[in-house]
Amino acid sequence: MNIKRTSFPRIVIIGGGFAGVALAKRLSKQDLQVVLLDKNNYHTFQPLLYQVSTGGLEPDSIAYPIRKILKDFPNFHFRLADVEEIDLVKNEVITNIGELKFDYLVVASGSKTNYFGNADIEKYSMAMKTIPQSLNLRSLILENFEDALLTSDLNERNALMNFVIVGGGPTGVELAGALAEIKKGILPKDYPDLDTRLAQIHVIQSGDTILKGMSANASQKAEDFLEKLGVNVWKNVRVTNYDGKTVTTNTDLIFETATLIWAAGVKGALIKGLDNEGGVTKENRLLVNEYNQVKGFDHIFAIGDVACMVSDECPRGLPMMAQPAIQQGDQLGENILRFIEGRPMKPFTYKNKGVMATIGRNKAVVDLKRFKFQGVFAWYVWMFVHLFFLIGFRNRMVVFVNWVYNYVRFDREARLIIRPFKRKGNT
Ligand SMILES: Cc1cc2nc3c(=O)[nH]c(=O)nc-3n(C[C@H](O)[C@H](O)[C@H](O)COP(=O)(O)OP(=O)(O)OC[C@H]3O[C@@H](n4cnc5c(N)ncnc54)[C@H](O)[C@@H]3O)c2cc1C
Repeated sequence: MNIKRTSFPRIVIIGGGFAGVALAKRLSKQDLQVVLLDKNNYHTFQPLLYQVSTGGLEPDSIAYPIRKILKDFPNFHFRLADVEEIDLVKNEVITNIGELKFDYLVVASGSKTNYFGNADIEKYSMAMKTIPQSLNLRSLILENFEDALLTSDLNERNALMNFVIVGGGPTGVELAGALAEIKKGILPKDYPDLDTRLAQIHVIQSGDTILKGMSANASQKAEDFLEKLGVNVWKNVRVTNYDGKTVTTNTDLIFETATLIWAAGVKGALIKGLDNEGGVTKENRLLVNEYNQVKGFDHIFAIGDVACMVSDECPRGLPMMAQPAIQQGDQLGENILRFIEGRPMKPFTYKNKGVMATIGRNKAVVDLKRFKFQGVFAWYVWMFVHLFFLIGFRNRMVVFVNWVYNYVRFDREARLIIRPFKRKGNT
């Protein structure tokens, strides 16, 4: 990898997401050699992926070059590398561009879509975990409307205009809201020859409430907002299969659709070598102690989505969200220094700053520690918080200008089929 050893201890970080970047920022100022490896050369702001999928934002505005985030630190090195394995005997990571020894290793590889072992759903559904996946979804949505315009088969037209989202968490709810806005504001203008009232948006949730991690008020209000927008919310329904045409469920309900969006769960992005140790949970997360040390190791740490830190308040681990990832990255920065200097490390405690979701124009639900509110004010808070956490001044400006433009013009101009999506299924 062409990274010379120095007299400083070498810390290798796998993953430049929220957790990895927060950690690297903390460590790179110190007398340490920090090497960050990521299979992408950019950091992705995942909470806004759904806006890329629905043409509200260009992909570049929610991505940021990792090299640029840490450009001012001489002890920092970035390599574009896919980490394939961790050799626990040699203390080295094995990647597609070579091997690299470490003194300390931090796994911050995040999570990936969990299909719960259903190969058909994995093959035929659309995921929304990365920018390329969001672009695929954007293309598919637009291609469906183009195809719907051409077909004279009513069933086929219905299936092309039927969008089924599995999972009533923030991702599913936000995507449904955005699709409903497209149906209302954009389709009639873009496709005057098509009866766009036929377009249907369904959210299927296996439990009896959407936005499960939020307050009962927020959950109910989100459901009301979705219903007002014409979205069909199906609760206590579990999707059992999808063959590229028909969605079957554990009830009598079936849906004919060309687009099934799978937002029903994620699992840790484990890396070979640490994947069959005793400390792996059912959700593929690495069990860590209160200092983020991976079970059984002193010098290997895990942070963010891939780490499972169990506490009395969170017996299944902290939520797989941006805040725990950022806070863990930040604190591990201090703890690694303490560990190297032989000082006691500080146990991690999660400060829950709140949860929020937006459900289309002027509608959001916000649960803060002390205040819970919904509606237009919540929507402004949602926008402010997302702008604040985006990395890069240019990105903040571009997103802000886009949002103002979209709001004033009732528009989403990034509805472009730049890279047509090749369907895997039989539709
Ligand atoms: C659509 C969507 C919406 C979301 N909305 C919200 C929200 O509103 N609020 C919220 O708090 N959270 C939200 N989340 C969750 C949040 O984005 C994650 O919890 C957060 O990104 C976790 O940070 P992380 O650093 O652990 O992982 P990530 O941010 O996923 O970063 C992991 C990094 O590791 C890299 N990587 C993985 N494997 C390898 C490998 N083998 N080799 C090299 N590099 C590798 C990846 O390329 C990636 O850059 C959302 C997630 C999604 C998908």
